[in-house]
Amino acid sequence: MKEHTPSKKPMYYYAIIAMIALLLLNAFVFPSLMQNEVKEVSYNEFLKLIDSGKINEVSRDDATQTITFTSLDGDKTLYYKTGIWPDDTLVSRLDSAGVKFTASIPTQANPLMTFLISWMLPILIFVALGQFLMKRMQNGMPGGVGNALSFGKANAKIYVEAQTGKTFNDVAGQDEAKEALLEIVDFLHNPDRYADIGAKLPKGALLVGPPGTGKTLMAKAVAGEANVPFFSISGSAFVEMFVGMGAAKVRDLFSQAEQKAPCIVFIDEIDTIGKKRDNVMGGNDEREQTLNQLLTEMDGFDARKGVVILAATNRPDSLDPALLRPGRFDRRIHVELPDLKGRTDILKVHARSVKISESVDFEAVARATSGASGADLANIINEAALRAVRMKRDIVEQADLEESVEVVIAGYARKNAVISPKEKRIVAYHEIGHALVAAKQTESAPVHKITIVPRTSGALGYTMQIDENEHYLMTREEAENKIATLTGGRAAEETVFGTITTGASNDIEQATRIARAMVVRYGMSDAFGMVALECNSNPYLSQDGAMTCSSDTAARVDAEVIAIVDRSHQRARQILKENEVALHKLAEHLLERETITGEEFMQLLKDVSPEIPAAVIA
Ligand code: ADP
Ligand code: MG
Ligand code: ZN
Repeated sequence: MKEHTPSKKPMYYYAIIAMIALLLLNAFVFPSLMQNEVKEVSYNEFLKLIDSGKINEVSRDDATQTITFTSLDGDKTLYYKTGIWPDDTLVSRLDSAGVKFTASIPTQANPLMTFLISWMLPILIFVALGQFLMKRMQNGMPGGVGNALSFGKANAKIYVEAQTGKTFNDVAGQDEAKEALLEIVDFLHNPDRYADIGAKLPKGALLVGPPGTGKTLMAKAVAGEANVPFFSISGSAFVEMFVGMGAAKVRDLFSQAEQKAPCIVFIDEIDTIGKKRDNVMGGNDEREQTLNQLLTEMDGFDARKGVVILAATNRPDSLDPALLRPGRFDRRIHVELPDLKGRTDILKVHARSVKISESVDFEAVARATSGASGADLANIINEAALRAVRMKRDIVEQADLEESVEVVIAGYARKNAVISPKEKRIVAYHEIGHALVAAKQTESAPVHKITIVPRTSGALGYTMQIDENEHYLMTREEAENKIATLTGGRAAEETVFGTITTGASNDIEQATRIARAMVVRYGMSDAFGMVALECNSNPYLSQDGAMTCSSDTAARVDAEVIAIVDRSHQRARQILKENEVALHKLAEHLLERETITGEEFMQLLKDVSPEIPAAVIA
C-alpha cells in the first residue's frame, strides 16, 4: 500500500518547526532578554550602601538565603544580590535609612512587556497559523487541501493505490457477490459505453456481511480487476479527526477521486460515520457533519465520470436511512460466511502462498471449520505454516492444518461461531423439517434455499421460501400451512432425536403470532367467527393491538390459539413420520453440502418419494 504523500513539504512540517522555534525562544531567549543584570556584592558593601542612602528597596528570600536590592543611580535602577548575614540590627538599620522593605523585588523589567512577549506573542502566532491552515483547507486547491489535511491526524490518510494487486482470483467463493461486482468492473472499463446509451450505474454499492468475510478484499479486487486507482479510507479515521476535519476530508476525497476518474472510492466500516442520526442531546456533531458532507458529495458528483463508491459494513441495520436512498448506496451486496465449498476454495487460495504437501485434504479441513470466516481460514493456513517451521519441516502437512484448526477454532468456539458436528446435525434436521413440511403441503410457497451456514443474525440456519407471485391475501389453509411449516423444525427434532432444543424459539414466536391474528383479527376461528377481539389504534407503533374483550374471552382466545398451533404441529409430525426416509436422506445431504438450492431439494425429494403435489415443484 503506497501512502499518498504530496510532493511539497507537508504543512505540519512547517507548523512543527514554528512550534519548536517558539518553545526555544520562550525557554532561553526571552527570559535573558528581559532579565536585568544583577550584580553580586558582599554583605559589607551592602551595609555601606545602606548607610550611604543609595538603597531604594530591599527584599529577603529565606529559601535561597539571599537578599536582593535595588539602588538608584541617577534615574537608572541597579540590581544587587548578597548573601544573608545573621544580623539582628538589619531591620532597624534599614528603617533609619528609609529603605523600603518588600517581599520581592521584580528583577524583570516591565512586567507588561514580559507578559506580551511570553504569552501574547505565542498565542498570536498560533492563531495566525490556524487561520492560515483553515484558509488553505477551504480554498479548494487540490494540493493545498491534501497538505493542510495531513496535519489532522497521522493515520487518517487517503490511500491511492494505482494497483491493489488483488483480483477476483484472490477471492474464493462469494460467487453472488462477485457477480454483482463484475458489472461495476465492466463499467469502470468502459464508462463511455454506459454514458453513450445514457445508462447510469448505481453510484454506490454497499458490501454487507460479517467480519472477515472478505469485504475489504473484494473492494480491492474490483479495483484490481478494473485496473483503476483505489481510494480507501476507514470510517473510523474520519471520526478520530479534529472538529471540522471529517467533512473537509470527505470533500477532499471526492475532489481527488474526480480528478482520477475512473476510480474507486472505498469507505470501510462506514457504520462509524453512517450511524443513524438522532436528535438526542450530545449527539456526535462531528460525525453528523461528516455524514452530511458525504451525502452532499454523493449527490453532487456525476456518476458518469466513472467514480464508483464502495462501502463496507457489518452492521447494515445501524446505517442512517439517508445513506441507503436511491442515488446513494442503493445497491446491497451480501457477503456471507462461506459454506463447505467456499471454505475449501478459500483454503486453496491461501495455500497457494505456502509450500504445502500434495496430499493435504482441504475438504476435510473445511468440514471441520463450519462457521469460520475467510479471515479465520487464512489464519489457519498461516498457523499451519508456522507450526511446520516449528517442527523444522519445509512443507506444510495435514497434521499442521489439523493442529491449527484446533488452535484457531478453540479461539473462536468461545465466540460461538463454530458449531459442533452434533449441533450441526440437529440444525440440518431442523431445517429439512421445515422444508419437508412446506413441500408436502399444497398452498405452500416453494422452497428456495436451505442452509445451515450460521447467519449474522444469530440464526444457525434457515429455510427460505419464495412465492412466485406476491400475495396480498392469505387463505385460512395457507395460514395453517404456514404454522405447520414453522412447527416442522421442532417436529423433526422430536422425530429424529427424541428431544427438543432451544433452536425453535423464533419459529414458536412466529407461529403464535399468526395463530393469534387468525383468531382476533381475521375471524378465522370457528369459536369466535367474525368478531374483532383486538383493536389496533396506532398501526405505526406496534403490531400488537389492545384486546377489546373481557378477560374471560381473552382466556378462551388463548385456548383457541393454543389449539390452532397444536393442530398444525400434529400435522407436521404426521408429515415427517410419513416421509422419514426422505427426511434422513435430505438432512444428510444438507449436512454434507451446508447449502442446497430449492431445485436440488425438490430433485432429491422426487427421487425418494415421487408422489409430490405438482404445485410445489415450481
Ligand atoms: P472484512 O473486510 O469482510 O472484514 P477482509 O476483506 O478484511 O474481511 O478479510 C480478511 C482476510 O481474510 C483477507 O485479507 C483474506 O486474506 C481473507 N479472506 C476473507 N474472505 C476471503 C475469500 N472469500 N477468499 C479468500 N480470502 C479471504
Ligand atoms: Mg474490512
Ligand atoms: Zn426453525
